Amino acid sequence: MRTVYVNGEYLPENEAKISIFDRGFLMADGVYEVTSVLDGKLIDFDGHAKRLERSLNELEMPHPDVLPDLLEVHRELVRLNDLEEGMIYLQITRGAPDDRDFVFPDPEATKPTVVLFTQSKPGLADNPTAKKGIKIISIEDQRWARRDIKTVQLLYPSMGKMMAKAAGADDAWMVEDGAVTEGTSNNAYIVKGNTIITRHLGNEILHGITRAAVLRFAREAQMQVEERSFTIAEAQEADEAFITSASTFVMPVVDIDGASVGTGAPGPVAARLREIYLEESRKLAI
Ligand code: PMP
Repeated sequence: MRTVYVNGEYLPENEAKISIFDRGFLMADGVYEVTSVLDGKLIDFDGHAKRLERSLNELEMPHPDVLPDLLEVHRELVRLNDLEEGMIYLQITRGAPDDRDFVFPDPEATKPTVVLFTQSKPGLADNPTAKKGIKIISIEDQRWARRDIKTVQLLYPSMGKMMAKAAGADDAWMVEDGAVTEGTSNNAYIVKGNTIITRHLGNEILHGITRAAVLRFAREAQMQVEERSFTIAEAQEADEAFITSASTFVMPVVDIDGASVGTGAPGPVAARLREIYLEESRKLAI
């Protein structure tokens, strides 16, 4: 059984409790982060901590007292759960006032709810899927307009994954005004020659922590990077395609809406970026 963290306490998972009035539960009034763990160490912790603070600020959510100590809490959960490889999920909500109300509760009276738990995934880095790639479908992007904030409003992305599954694919890329925004839980890329193309940052997509690291490593390896939007048709004609996220790292995409990308097998750029990303992030893990 896992040991989880809830509002200052480390508890067995079946003893951890949240109020029915919690605004995360009633209104999806919460933000989250997922940090991966390799060799018992945290990957890109600082990036996740910075984005978390930004998400809180954008929603005018009070900072929980534990915010400066989150590195320690992550490490303690790794230790208590003997986590070698996997993820740590963190969620902060605007807390549990004593009734349901659209108006934000008084931050003096209602403290944020903070929950963290581990997810053990042995073989995360050595994932055999990276050798064969994934198939994706395109769907309309029907999410709200502030996708740069990492909120727990994940119903549409969850439906998107189910649409992909129903179509015999692994995941979906979302399209708005003819351009790909991102994957249901990852950033989307195509490769043409020596150039990596991924959508520019803005409110339309989540500013992926893995995206920032991968683009930095790509530039250091003398690859060209173009941050601009692209269409599904352009992606189907590209040499390669891939996704990035904290839990999939760099994952090749070999099929888009039934059309093979490039040779239909993972390409060299995605494979190389996955290798560099894993190697460099392992070195920088804390
Ligand atoms: N976009 C969306 C919509 C996501 O949910 C995620 C992962 N949570 C990402 C991109 C990738 O972000 P990161 O690399 O920080 O995991």
